[in-house]
Amino acid sequence: MAGRITLTMIKPDAVAKNATGDILRMINEAGFRIAAMKLTKLSKEQAEQFYAVHRERPFYNDLVAFMSSGPIVAAILEKDNAVEDFRKLIGATNPADAAEGSIRRKHAENIERNAVHGSDSDENAAIEAAFHFSQLERF
Ligand code: ATP
Ligand code: MG
Repeated sequence: MAGRITLTMIKPDAVAKNATGDILRMINEAGFRIAAMKLTKLSKEQAEQFYAVHRERPFYNDLVAFMSSGPIVAAILEKDNAVEDFRKLIGATNPADAAEGSIRRKHAENIERNAVHGSDSDENAAIEAAFHFSQLERF
């Protein structure tokens, strides 16, 4: 059975250009409930840990530097089929390939500075939610 939560981060590029409000509007209008949310900033070590699966990729160091370069908004989003439906809402990794109406099509700058993160599986959604939020911070 598909899970009910996914973890998003509004990335430093989108927070810096004040796109947070519009992205949250798109998330709410797509039927997601915000179950936890915070404005925070990843240290280099936290960004390394969060994206550890990409350690061997050529873009890893740039990605870690970017993700720790400024504040982000982390949130747990709740909806039936949350992981898959949110990946649809954010669009392809590269905004040039992202569908019309998707968050990345509207707000991403390029394949790295792509405005939002979305979990890629129910298992990772649970791990990433626990990375950012304690049980007391979830509603
Ligand atoms: P995310 O995990 O952030 O939701 P994603 O699942 O669409 O994005 P991944 O393959 O998991 O894409 O890559 C993680 C992040 O690494 C991307 O969102 C992007 O910021 C960066 N990235 C991915 N591919 C590249 C690339 N070829 N060049 C530069 N940065 C990249
Ligand atoms: Mg990913």
